[in-house]
Amino acid sequence: MRWMAIAAALTCAPALVHAQGFTIGTVTAQPGSVASGELTIDEGARIPFSIVNGTKSGPVLALIAGVHGQEYTPVLALQRLRTAIDPATLTGTVVMVHVANMPSYTARTIYYSPVDRKNLNRVFPGRADGTLSERIADRITREIIARATHVVDIHSGDGNESLRPYVYWITTGPPEVAEISRKMALASGFDHIVIDRGRPTDPAASVYLTNTAILRGKPGLTVESGFLAVSDEASIVRIEHAVAGWLKLLGMRATGPDPTAHPIWIDRSEVLTSKFTGIWYPMVERGHTVAEGTLVGRVTDFFGKTLQEIRAPFGGEVLYVVGTPAMNEGEPVGFIGQVKQ
Ligand SMILES: [Zn+2]
Repeated sequence: MRWMAIAAALTCAPALVHAQGFTIGTVTAQPGSVASGELTIDEGARIPFSIVNGTKSGPVLALIAGVHGQEYTPVLALQRLRTAIDPATLTGTVVMVHVANMPSYTARTIYYSPVDRKNLNRVFPGRADGTLSERIADRITREIIARATHVVDIHSGDGNESLRPYVYWITTGPPEVAEISRKMALASGFDHIVIDRGRPTDPAASVYLTNTAILRGKPGLTVESGFLAVSDEASIVRIEHAVAGWLKLLGMRATGPDPTAHPIWIDRSEVLTSKFTGIWYPMVERGHTVAEGTLVGRVTDFFGKTLQEIRAPFGGEVLYVVGTPAMNEGEPVGFIGQVKQ
């Protein structure tokens, strides 16, 4: 077995220009072709994916949609990109996860799995013998992230989140990885880039999908485009445009859009949370500029008495605000970002 492994390694030497077949699970995409299939976790939990395999070997860009159940614009964008990216002119491989969190998608739940009530984007790198969300995370870590050279986790505002588009540039991990992630943030074409310095640094407790990739030496981004479960064209096209930017940046396609010329760096940001379960009344909208102390919204009990007024802790922009009344103790009500001067 050892000699066979060495022989296989030699045939995959970097000098080789022609691509090999690319296999995930039982599905292989030959060079210059597209193949799709599913990773099966157990009944009701399956992960549909596609492999667009180019004719020359190169980077493996993983694009992941549907980590949260009511975030539809990334799902729709990837379905379009599956046919829009031509493998005949592609260098390297694009791997797409069309719906990462099938239990949450089919039950139309926000944030949490209907099966184990866990947030998939808080349980990475997952556990092979864990709850359903942990098993999904484990399969994505081992069969998608491990096979990729670059990873993008694409979100939108979930069903309750009124969100303006932005990307997170995660600075955790080796500096050379962070630098490529920074270039990916600029290549996305998004103008708002949130500088995120607060992610965990232990690969065994990476918590978030993109952070899991970064702590394994793979540059990556988390992208947000869309709001309130709406499937608007502009939010879908923004994702398609970003993918075109990454393909150009990584040398996977000869042409593509230019990077963001005038990025707005968000250097300080804070998720505001509710202390109470009750009814949420937002007083601002996504994209609004707020001053320190501006009333972001209030939480009432079910009879109308105000339980909490939530104010902006500093001046900045409303990156998202919860736009629907249901509120639980400890949950986010909004996200404020301050522009780097
Ligand atoms: Zn999300």
